[in-house]
Amino acid sequence: MAAQDTPRLELQNICHSFGSDAAVDGVSLRLHSGEVICLLGPSGCGKSTTLRIAAGVECQDTGAVLVDGKVVSDQTCHMPPENRSIGLMFQDFALFPHLDVGANIAFGLSGSRAEKKARVLTLLDRVELSGYAHKYPHELSGGEQQRVALARAVAPRPRVLLMDEPFSGLDDRLRDDVRDATLELLKDEGTAVLLVTHEPEEAMRMADQIALMRAGRIVQQGAPYNIYNAPKDREAAAFFSDINVVSGVVKNALTETPFGQFLVPGAVDGTEVEIIIRPQHLRLDFDRHGKGPNPTTQEGTPAKGVVARARYLGNHSLVEFEMAYDGSRLQVTVPGVFLPESGRVLWLSMRRDRCFVFPKT
Ligand code: ATP
Repeated sequence: MAAQDTPRLELQNICHSFGSDAAVDGVSLRLHSGEVICLLGPSGCGKSTTLRIAAGVECQDTGAVLVDGKVVSDQTCHMPPENRSIGLMFQDFALFPHLDVGANIAFGLSGSRAEKKARVLTLLDRVELSGYAHKYPHELSGGEQQRVALARAVAPRPRVLLMDEPFSGLDDRLRDDVRDATLELLKDEGTAVLLVTHEPEEAMRMADQIALMRAGRIVQQGAPYNIYNAPKDREAAAFFSDINVVSGVVKNALTETPFGQFLVPGAVDGTEVEIIIRPQHLRLDFDRHGKGPNPTTQEGTPAKGVVARARYLGNHSLVEFEMAYDGSRLQVTVPGVFLPESGRVLWLSMRRDRCFVFPKT
């Protein structure tokens, strides 16, 4: 294998239990130089345990951890965290309170005084804190402390940086700025990053690859666009946004619904299926008033709904419909301001290219 293909970090079939409960159940992962992979999933799915095993602060029951192609932990060896060339940045990133910013960043650096000083000044400039070298942590805001922690973590040029919910202590607006600055610096440094988060938006914003975890396993891995637009199952779809669900039963590889027929190739007659669509992919049919399938679009047959309520959410409006066919509720997002009165009748259609059809679970 060519040297550039060797992952910076590789997890091979990692399993780990606490008592009889499997926290990590066969996780394999390859992280390359300059790549950001986000471990994403609900609370308790094993993200942090996976990260702690990669760092070496937890020792897996079975499986191997490799850094730059060399085993650092398996059944026969366990290299301590400080020897793995791995940087860590956790939510409670505590800076050393008795050291100033410059000394905090220089803490893990080797080399001459001049080299250390140059690296500290470069990094302070990169995180937009030039002139802060002699301030102490208690004199900094939360966002500034976070940026110093980032500079400290990347200062020794770790091969891999492991980050566990590093932005969760910051308020929303600050978090976006710090995330963007962080990503820019990590990309420039070519650092391989494994980042744990339970927030889909954070993963979409940061990741080259998202590894979606559930009950100790990676259930789907791919680029954010692919995971969002081709989820593996209903749960994976629902993790990224609200979803609408329309049920049907298969007959002759088709399922009939109030929105028209959907192809379900290969499914046995009588199989119950769910058609999933995100609120932004339902269309309001203002012009045709439910006159049946529109031959010029992908949108099938419109179904009649009655507005239950509508709310304005800033850059879009969210309209909830009670559907005439069975009284179920569907949500539609409409760009801008659209606040129809309750009780108004409208027809909805589905963008076929944005529907996911799964067997009912
Ligand atoms: P969160 O997003 O809430 O941090 P997570 O996905 O990171 O969750 P983990 O912290 O890896 O999940 O925990 C996975 C499972 O292992 C959970 O059921 C948790 O209770 C359990 N667990 C984690 N650490 C320990 C421990 N030291 N002792 C016992 N059980 C643990």
